[in-house]
Amino acid sequence: MFDLIIIGGSAAATAAGIYAARRGLKFKIITKDFGGEVSTSGEIGNWPGDGMTDGITLAGKFKSHLDFYKADMEDGIEVESVSRMEDGNFCVKAKKDSPTKMASEKMPDGEGQAYKCDYTARTVIVATGVHSRELNIPGEKEFRLKGVSYCTTCDGPIFKGRITVVIGGGNSALEAALMLADICPKVYVLNINPGFGGDRVLMDNLKSKPNAEVIYEADTKEIWGDKFVTGLRYDKNGSSHELKVDGIFIHIGMIPNSGVVPAGVKKNSFGEIEVNAVGETNIPGLYAAGDVTNIPFKQIVISAGQGCTALLSAVGYLNKIKS
Ligand SMILES: Cc1cc2nc3c(=O)[nH]c(=O)nc-3n(C[C@H](O)[C@H](O)[C@H](O)COP(=O)(O)OP(=O)(O)OC[C@H]3O[C@@H](n4cnc5c(N)ncnc54)[C@H](O)[C@@H]3O)c2cc1C
Repeated sequence: MFDLIIIGGSAAATAAGIYAARRGLKFKIITKDFGGEVSTSGEIGNWPGDGMTDGITLAGKFKSHLDFYKADMEDGIEVESVSRMEDGNFCVKAKKDSPTKMASEKMPDGEGQAYKCDYTARTVIVATGVHSRELNIPGEKEFRLKGVSYCTTCDGPIFKGRITVVIGGGNSALEAALMLADICPKVYVLNINPGFGGDRVLMDNLKSKPNAEVIYEADTKEIWGDKFVTGLRYDKNGSSHELKVDGIFIHIGMIPNSGVVPAGVKKNSFGEIEVNAVGETNIPGLYAAGDVTNIPFKQIVISAGQGCTALLSAVGYLNKIKS
């Protein structure tokens, strides 16, 4: 039985883990893929104390910091569900096909427990972040990793000298288009809306790029190719259009990875876990932090702050139930 299980392996989980170690808790961090979105973030200039850095370097520092405190972490384990047991403690189950070693604390059958858990803990912090929204159109799945990407920072450089298209209408799409405009001879931007929802400075920068062409009210319908992507079709004003492209970068929003929490946990209409100012969900002992929550701004420093807040709340709860 752990005092705390932290699910996630990025900014929020790292901050929670550092504080948990310093408080002497018996805890474990379980993560599908350490580094999370931080490691895909490319250039980072707003993490206090580091000046300019990049996502992979920062994620490496997060890992070193946890190692310094000898934090117990299992990387490569995907949590399937968290449920609250009758005694108020939590049962955490890992997906059976989790890519690396199986979870360590198998609870045997026949111990009077209704649940068969991979881990049990008095408290849980969910810091599972978000994943990219998909278009759900023909060809999208087929050409994923064959010209279709959801991370321009990660995959953009592969398309240097190629014709590319960015699909989306917010900051993420604008940043992707700006990056590609610096390395590609032509970048199309297909925006389903009549305008952008992003920062003015990014829009102005994009306007200054002669090789970037924005097509508004363009509804992308189909992707095709051979071994790799060769083109797509979009509808605009009732007519159908085709573009020949080598790479397609989809930036149409994020979906919170909130499916692991018990059914009774309150979420907002976007599926974000609702937390109060101290990281508590509506279930006692269950906390959430970072991008997976309803806290409005999705930034590394904010996720880290929330991870710390959730941990300090969990410590208060543990002190109460242990006394
Ligand atoms: C392209 C891009 C650029 C960005 N640039 C910046 C920037 O310059 N500055 C900035 O402050 N922010 C930036 N951000 C935002 C920033 O990356 C996020 O706000 C931050 O990473 C959120 O941290 P997090 O810990 O909440 O979640 P994440 O970083 O999303 O990490 C979630 C973690 O949970 C794990 N996980 C998910 N589901 C499970 C599961 N079921 N079981 C086990 N583990 C699970 C994942 O493997 C991952 O380790 C950028 C984001 C993107 C996409």
